Amino acid sequence: MSETEALLDRAAKLDKADELAVLREQFVLDEVVYLDGNSLGALPRSVPGRVADVVQREWGRLRIRSWTESGWWTAPERIGDLVAPLVGAAAGQIVVGDSTSVNVFKAVVGAVRLSGGPEAGRDEILVDESTFPTDGYIAQSAARLTGCTLRPLAPADVPAAAGPRTAAVLVNHVDYRTGRLHDLPGITAAVHAAGALVVWDLCHSAGALPVGLDEHGVDLAVGCTYKYLNGGPGSPAYLYVAERHQGDFDSPLPGWNSHAEPFGMRPGYAPADGALRGRVGTPDILSMLALEESLKVWEGVPVEAVREKSLALTDFFLECVAAYVPAGLVASITPEVHAERGSQVALRCDGADAVMDDLIARGVVGDFRAPDVLRFGFTPLYVGFAEVERAARVLGEVLHGRS
Ligand SMILES: *Cc1c(COP(=O)(O)O)cnc(C)c1O
Repeated sequence: MSETEALLDRAAKLDKADELAVLREQFVLDEVVYLDGNSLGALPRSVPGRVADVVQREWGRLRIRSWTESGWWTAPERIGDLVAPLVGAAAGQIVVGDSTSVNVFKAVVGAVRLSGGPEAGRDEILVDESTFPTDGYIAQSAARLTGCTLRPLAPADVPAAAGPRTAAVLVNHVDYRTGRLHDLPGITAAVHAAGALVVWDLCHSAGALPVGLDEHGVDLAVGCTYKYLNGGPGSPAYLYVAERHQGDFDSPLPGWNSHAEPFGMRPGYAPADGALRGRVGTPDILSMLALEESLKVWEGVPVEAVREKSLALTDFFLECVAAYVPAGLVASITPEVHAERGSQVALRCDGADAVMDDLIARGVVGDFRAPDVLRFGFTPLYVGFAEVERAARVLGEVLHGRS
């Protein structure tokens, strides 16, 4: 048997044994190998019908009545409770709405305020130096507004750096470029030992691996829903505020939707209790209800099984890349160790931008991240092992052709 035959054979066996394989039918997909679900998840089949119903019946016919009769007003908390089990949170701690960027702002300023801030001698925010840029920009502004200094550092250095002056720490759970999974339990414990609060950004982990927010005592967390959660382009993000902090959570964006009595129309602000204190203004109902529908694919799907398949997919991809790509043309920057790997593989490669264009033209869709990274995301709900083999084989052919 040739090496290719052997890998094709392995892929077929892995697909046959894959208990999650049936879920693929719930998505709109075609013959393209879609390895960009960590940027924009695929469309669940039931979403178009639900969106049409929301537009035509709920909006078109019921109009204003839908705020109560169709459950529009309470959608942010209701959908937050659907996201909760996917990130290991009990109900009542997550609210859906706004973008991740806006929620990073609420969470970081909220965390500084919860810590006591500069008045209590806590005048420093630590931020993941390799963070997705928006988190870094927002953290800079949050630091200026709260009178803190901002110190970028490697997440692994947080335990040694956190101290009596630390107010809050912001870390990406999985690095969007390298796919490195950071130590959420260890970093959270170290930040707490320093008396500070931690904000985790779950954009690249939620829906791909167990997060355990409650189990590990995380203070605040944010994440988007259009990557591994398949909520659709620009679908609303979420904010987690641990129950023990909710009573003191002082949002920097206290809009009328988070008022204790929103329709009291009072001049003075009084915050609502619970997760809805994280709301701001009128929710984006069309996107929000598309997200609610898309989360139905998770019914009965254990996140642990998703994690197991995710690691098997990335392991198999690395093995196929080693077999098909001429030595020295790509270098993985994704950790080999399972405990440090998210659900993507990032390969450094000369001319990565043009290589990705060639891959896409040949039906393998990943993405390019500057300056030289080919990024492949593996969504366990709909990516199969035969596709993984094909992606690596096409990459090998493209790189053979160019060298
Ligand atoms: C995708 C991503 C974002 C996106 O933020 P938006 O406000 O939705 O544009 C933010 N942070 C991280 C870590 C991400 O991966």
